[in-house]
Formats: sequence, C-alpha cells, structure tokens
Amino acid sequence: MKRIAILGSTGSIGTQALEVVREQPEHFQVELLTCGNRVDALIEQALEFKPNAVVIGDAAQLPRVKDALFAHGIKAYAGAEALEQAVAMEDIDIVLTALVGFAGLRPTLAAIEAGKSIALANKETLVVAGDLVTKAARAKGVNIYPVDSEHSAIFQCLAGEWSNPIEKIVLTASGGPFRGKSRDELAGITKVQALKHPNWEMGAKITIDSATLMNKGLEAIEAKWLFNLRADQIEIVVHPQSIIHSMVQFRDGSMKAQMGLPDMKLPIQYALAYPERLPTTWPRFDFTRYPALTFEQPDTVTFRNLALALAALDQGGNAPCVLNAANEVAVELFLKDAIGFLEMSDLVEHCLQRIEHITNPSLDDLFASDAEARRLARERVPA
Ligand code: NAD
Ligand code: MG
Repeated sequence: MKRIAILGSTGSIGTQALEVVREQPEHFQVELLTCGNRVDALIEQALEFKPNAVVIGDAAQLPRVKDALFAHGIKAYAGAEALEQAVAMEDIDIVLTALVGFAGLRPTLAAIEAGKSIALANKETLVVAGDLVTKAARAKGVNIYPVDSEHSAIFQCLAGEWSNPIEKIVLTASGGPFRGKSRDELAGITKVQALKHPNWEMGAKITIDSATLMNKGLEAIEAKWLFNLRADQIEIVVHPQSIIHSMVQFRDGSMKAQMGLPDMKLPIQYALAYPERLPTTWPRFDFTRYPALTFEQPDTVTFRNLALALAALDQGGNAPCVLNAANEVAVELFLKDAIGFLEMSDLVEHCLQRIEHITNPSLDDLFASDAEARRLARERVPA
C-alpha cells in the first residue's frame, strides 16, 4: 500500500490519478489532496477518498472547506506555506506534483527535503530549477519518477539498462492541432481553436503549449535533468498518431520504444506503482487500426517557441527559467485574448533578450529571474 499526496488533484492529471486510485484501492491510499481554487470539486474528492488533510490556494474559501470536512475528520489548510508543510506529513510516501507552472517548485523542493518520492507531472519545476532539484533529490536519496508520457516511456525503456549509457533519446511530439500550417495561418488562430488537441485532453496551459510546440521544448529540458543528458543527445520527432511515446537509443545502435494508446493513466500508474506493473482493463492498442505510424521533422521556423526553448536548453543557467516565466505570462495573455498566437513567441524572445544571463543561478536568483521576466512581459503587454 502506497500513501500518496496529490498536488493539483482537481486538474487533468489529478483527476486521472484519482481514477487510478479508485481502480487500485488495495495499492493506493490518498493522504493529501490540494487544489488552487476549484474548492467544490476538492470537497467532493475529499469526501470520497478520505485523505488526512486538504490544502487550497484561495484562503477566502477555507471556512467553507472546513465546514464541509470537519465532521469527517479531514483537516483543511490554505496557502502556499501550508502546502509546503503538508507535503512533509509523516504518513506520505510519494508526492504526485500535478499542479501547473512555477508554483510547483517550492512544494516539490519541500517534499524532496522531507525525503518523499516524487511522481513528477509538473515539468515546469525541472525546466526552471532542474539542476537544484536533481541535486537536492540525490542528496536526500529521493527518486523522481516521471509522469509526463514521453519521459515515462524513456524510463520504461531504461528498465534493466541502468548500467548501459544512453546514446540519445527521441522525444515524440504529436505536432499539435496546427501541424503543417503556415505562419500566416497561425496569426489568426483563436484560443478556441488552440484549446482543441487532436490526441490528448489536458489542462489549458499545457494544451496551448502543445499547440505552440513550447511543450516539446519544455520536455527536452525536463529530459535533460531526469536522464542526465547533453542537449545533443535529445532529438525530437513529430509522430502525429501519438502511439510511440518516446524512444531510447543505446551505444550498440539498438533502439527501444514504448508504445500504447494515448492515455495518461498509464504513466501516472507506472510512476505511482513502480517498479510493479498493475493489471488494468483499459483499451489495448490494435495494429490493424493503425496501419501506418508516421514520422517527420518538427518545423521550428513556423513554431518558433520550440526553437526558443531549445536555445534556452543550450544556454542553460537562468535561461530556461526566464523562458518558462515569459511563456506562463504569454499563455495567460493569449487565453485572455490580449495577444495573438504568434505574439506568444515574441513575448518570450523579448524577455530572453533582456534579462541578464546567470550561469549558475541560486534558488534566490531563479525566483528573481522569474519575477523579472513576468514583470517585463506584463510591461510589454499592458492589461
Ligand atoms: P490543470 O490546469 O488541469 O490542473 C492544475 C491543478 O493545479 C488544479 O488542481 C489546480 O487547482 C492546481 N493549481 C493551479 N495553480 C495552482 C497554484 N498556484 N497553487 C496550487 N495549486 C494550483 O493542469 P494539468 O493539465 O493537470 O497539468 C498539471 C501538470 O502536469 C502541468 O505541469 C503539466 O505540464 C503536466 N502534464 C500534464 C499532462 C496532461 O495530460 N494534462 C501531461 C503531461 C504533463
Ligand atoms: Mg508530454
């Protein structure tokens, strides 16, 4: 029985994690649920899964949550500090970080400090502070299990290969809903169009990142830290069917791929149950329904976000942190119809060009770079 904390339990990954728990009650016990402001959904989840405690982001709603859960013996807290304390609770074995953006950094570090295993969905944490986070994990002897489907695929390919060096990895990308479109066509894309992903149903932020290919750039940086790779060992290939979730090539030239229907429940369950594979009744992949699996080069000229992210990966230091912060603001502004689809890359580039490069940033440096990038981005596009 593993006792788990789910940070961001009301989101896309969070609710799918709870489906996994619901299907495997003899393997998982929920100890902590947290959310930003979807408090009604959180209360409902708490009444079903009976965690020890819940934490919400919005303190104004705390009295209502306490009222709903007190009689059931479930404690309720609010705020970022409460979240950092809650992940350290004694009865938690593994923390699933399924909250979105830079907000995941502090609670992830707090969980590592407390010696908890991490099931990492919140890729922004590794993008921003991969060096510090992986060093902290090594120092504490904490394992970080990837939840992102591509990284789970690589992790699954590496089982039994721990002493064999990786020659390269190939991250697959669906190409998003606008694959093949020209920059002229992209200029007029609306948020309604961008929020429709062909293969995956996800939260709004990652859905937009998938449409701009920023998501694949963030994943390249995430992979660098998870698997200790150089930038030149990370290749990206567009594979529109999303059946091969990613690949590893070893030094004898052999390439392993992990395949299956696109369903995040599998990588979530693999991360939580590792090293065991638990039985499921989910739909199986059928070759006759996919007579062709196809591959093409990503178009980094049209999808400039991917080029910017790969440049930040090369540059290292605080560049990925600046890229991430500018992108979080850009996505938020695009979702408010304040900027167009292509202007998201303009905003990211604007911030990357202006913020001073720091080669070995401390945690304080990263918080400062994050704040500075957000300020610059908002200054350029006044609300
Ligand atoms: P989502 O928007 O659906 O859910 C986010 C969750 O985090 C919600 O529960 C929300 O209440 C909570 N939250 C948001 N801001 C918060 C804050 N400041 N403090 C505390 N809680 C906060 O997002 P998602 O699609 O589930 O993605 C979560 C993470 O997983 C992201 O980092 C994303 O890149 C990654 N990821 C998602 C998918 C997917 O299929 N959805 C796949 C791979 C990786
Ligand atoms: Mg992914």
